[in-house]
Amino acid sequence: MSKGRKIMITMKDIVREGNPILRKVTNDVAVPPSEEDQQILLNMLQFLKNSQDPEIAKRYKLRPGVGLSANQIGLNKRMFAAYLTDDKGRYHEYTLINPKIISHSVNMIYLPQGEGCLSVDRQVPGFVPRYERIKVSAYDLKGTKLEIKLKGYASIVVQHEIDHLNGIMFYDHINKEDPFKLPENIPVESLY
Ligand SMILES: [Zn+2]
Repeated sequence: MSKGRKIMITMKDIVREGNPILRKVTNDVAVPPSEEDQQILLNMLQFLKNSQDPEIAKRYKLRPGVGLSANQIGLNKRMFAAYLTDDKGRYHEYTLINPKIISHSVNMIYLPQGEGCLSVDRQVPGFVPRYERIKVSAYDLKGTKLEIKLKGYASIVVQHEIDHLNGIMFYDHINKEDPFKLPENIPVESLY
């Protein structure tokens, strides 16, 4: 499948756990991004939008997702798309290239229901502690450098995606002995 064209990503394009590409640190993307890379990111963003549209999701059997990294569609490229409504009801849409967390809070948060992943076809119970606030540097589709401050749910989603780009899965953060044990000596709160 050529990913440089406008195409519709479906679940068959999503790489699942066990595939070694999910454990690789992805390569930086050339900036400004090529037209091909821009189109790939737009296809990824559209997948997320489609997956959250009940009719389209049903028709194409899409699992709803809020974030998708390029290695999750088999591409070794440091970029991701995210599309979500946060815990304050604010809407977020990102297509970020070479993202990097440049600073973060001490305080941490977690989703009480745990995290899920389009590349993981099973429930993995446990708390995934994430920084409550992060500042991210990245490039947008035009190659413009951005600095974005995120908190709450959006911060969690973006950390999940940047982890993917570093070969890290969400369950790597779950305590091995007790999946519901949280880090000690750090303030950690449930998001909801
Ligand atoms: Zn994931």
